[in-house]
Amino acid sequence: MTQIRLRGAVAPLRRPGATQRRATVDAMVAALRPEEPLHCLRPQAVTDAARAFVAAFPGDVLYAVKCNAEPAMLRAVAAGGVAHFDCASDAEVRLVRSMFPGAAIHFMHPVKSRAAIRAAWAQHGVSDFVLDADAELTKILQETGGGDLGLVVRLALPKGSAAYDLSGKFGAAPAEAAALLRAARPHAARLGLSFHVGSQCMDPAAWTRALALAAEVIAAAGVAVDIVDVGGGFPVAYPGSTPPPLAAFMAAIRDGAALLPPGVRLWAEPGRALVAGGASVVVQVQQRRGDALYVNDGVYGALSDAGAPGFRFPHRLVRAGGDPVAAVARDFTLFGPTCDSADVMKGPWTLPADVREGDWIEVGQLGAYGTALRTAFNGFDRAHVAEVSDAPMLATAGYDTAAPARAA
Ligand SMILES: *Cc1c(COP(=O)(O)O)cnc(C)c1O
Repeated sequence: MTQIRLRGAVAPLRRPGATQRRATVDAMVAALRPEEPLHCLRPQAVTDAARAFVAAFPGDVLYAVKCNAEPAMLRAVAAGGVAHFDCASDAEVRLVRSMFPGAAIHFMHPVKSRAAIRAAWAQHGVSDFVLDADAELTKILQETGGGDLGLVVRLALPKGSAAYDLSGKFGAAPAEAAALLRAARPHAARLGLSFHVGSQCMDPAAWTRALALAAEVIAAAGVAVDIVDVGGGFPVAYPGSTPPPLAAFMAAIRDGAALLPPGVRLWAEPGRALVAGGASVVVQVQQRRGDALYVNDGVYGALSDAGAPGFRFPHRLVRAGGDPVAAVARDFTLFGPTCDSADVMKGPWTLPADVREGDWIEVGQLGAYGTALRTAFNGFDRAHVAEVSDAPMLATAGYDTAAPARAA
């Protein structure tokens, strides 16, 4: 049989030879003068954030791998004490298993392919699966043959206060979730109920409300539940958006958890909160037209959230050779490299008024959903990766690293 060759749709981030390490983004730019987008990773910031979250959360912490699956980021999360991984695909399961033979992997996608369930169960030692419908329960039982199974029912939440609603597509309504808990109980060595309040959720009370609903569902189900998974969604700082400190979210979770039956174990699945500060992307200005800057990365690259979702990111100019820059600032719009007119990032991006071709812009807080969302559209998928040890451009309260954040 012919071997099918799998080719990645997106070029992997390139390491020119051995991983380049410099103290700061400026030193890295001076050394590499990058003409392609340069992802500057900060593994230490990720390790610090993971450690802070693990220390604060009263239960098991699962890292949501989709948020950033770069091996250096996964290693940094693990170094912070995270030993559980929330995976959503066969490829994520394989990657995590290849890196961490002893890690606990949880398959948290509510609609899985049969092949992915089989491989996870039979080859990769995965025994926890999420579901939000009867049909998925049947599929999991058929493909695993049953045994030491953890079954987690995903509960849909009413639309809340997060930047991204994650209940529009997945999750069972409360009555249905109660019925699924009853149906799954006889097959589950561990039975759980999970929810996701939505990504970048600024309101700690969203977790208290969700836990109160979870408690009602468990009572309605009338069966014992071993785990409640409070999902991800923990916010980080972006310009003009300062979340309450981590402790406020933990207090809200403790308040909600008090409504659960005694002995229930808590899980959380943070993504963004652990890795957002862990990468800056350095883009280069290829042309200036008035207030418009044409740069070498955009919404089909690492800057997806700066496009239609309108997220603002900390940013600053890096000029080659330390040449002086204008003291006066001005607001710019960035255009990405693809031919699509939607490849625009309105910002506003406030930069020295004399920005010119060849200048670089460091864009911070891109460790979450930056690298992970790159595409090969129009052939603009080349990017380099390097490691720096300066502090993230913005700090998020409660995840503080030893070094103070730099002003954006
Ligand atoms: C995306 C996702 C997460 C991580 O969400 P963040 O907002 O990045 O914390 C966790 N759990 C599930 C089920 C998800 O889909």
